Amino acid sequence: MHDKIIAKKDLDSFVRSLAQSRDVFAPVRDKASMGWAQIDSADNLEFDFLNTDFSPKAFFFPQNERLMHFTNSSRDEDGMIMEEEPPRDREQVLLNIRPCDAKAFCVLDLVFCQDENAPDVYWKDKRDKTVLIGLACKAPCPTCFCTSVNCGPHHEEGLDMLLVDLGEDLLARPLTDKGQELAADLQDAPQEAVDQAAGQKKASEEAITSTVDMSKINERPVLEEYEHPYFDRVFEACINCGTCTFYCPTCHCFDIQDETQDEFGHRVRNWDTCMSWLFTHHTSGHNPRGTKKDRVRQRFMHKFKYMPIKLGGAIGCVGCGRCTRKCPVNIDVRTVVNSMNE
Ligand code: SF4
Ligand code: SF4
Repeated sequence: MHDKIIAKKDLDSFVRSLAQSRDVFAPVRDKASMGWAQIDSADNLEFDFLNTDFSPKAFFFPQNERLMHFTNSSRDEDGMIMEEEPPRDREQVLLNIRPCDAKAFCVLDLVFCQDENAPDVYWKDKRDKTVLIGLACKAPCPTCFCTSVNCGPHHEEGLDMLLVDLGEDLLARPLTDKGQELAADLQDAPQEAVDQAAGQKKASEEAITSTVDMSKINERPVLEEYEHPYFDRVFEACINCGTCTFYCPTCHCFDIQDETQDEFGHRVRNWDTCMSWLFTHHTSGHNPRGTKKDRVRQRFMHKFKYMPIKLGGAIGCVGCGRCTRKCPVNIDVRTVVNSMNE
């Protein structure tokens, strides 16, 4: 597939044509923060931002999602009537998504679609109907360490197209058939634009100076890592607020509840967090992760030890740095992983 070029002054017609038959979402500025919003023109598109505050995981895994509704009426001869939620009726485009967030979807695909014969239909329906157009990072955050966890500022995995900001133009690299289709009317990129994009990739990768080392974590038996003395210290500052898990693009704990009123009800899936005592509280009263140390250890062991073992080497972290930026007590995931690796 050839690299294409699109002038920023022509971006408006590109976005408008996308929006004719799809819902288009992009990071837009809202005072001091960056959030995702629906757009139908290029008016509010941003190219100079670090990343959105919240990850875009809610597009496929909403914070609260109705799975089905039901009626349980003794007056109805059919008794309990259950109706699933209808599938998404329009394709959607996530424009200017950062490469780390697209990579996170690939990690979550391994979780939600582990069994290809029985995938999570709510996740898969939205994934199948979404086009991901990435925007490569020109100036990574000081807290980013994506290059240590199989990702990078120009990483292409999971994207249908990658855009590279070259100033007045964008290099558009189609990566899948969907991306190729969207790029059909764009001009081929001149060689100097391709070279400029390659230079930017090298500079962006070199700008990421934070690293984590997982070599010993990978080698050690699970129990030995589980009993690492570092876990006796790291939990002390944590207040188990769950902020890190809600901002994290790969965290995916959830709880399913039935909300009822009279004979009507909804089955709802809500984000949950392994940092909460209640998350693992059994009806019997037993709690296998009853202490703060257990819960903090679980978060890091899950991402950096259990997931790679269970998911063919996939790390449950893409190095976006959000948890470090948002933690109210300054727990830094890079320090934790490097200490776990000692
Ligand atoms: S954000 Fe910080 S304090 Fe809150 S649960 Fe995560 S590690 Fe603990
Ligand atoms: S653990 Fe932290 S750095 Fe890693 S993906 Fe989650 S929020 Fe980003």
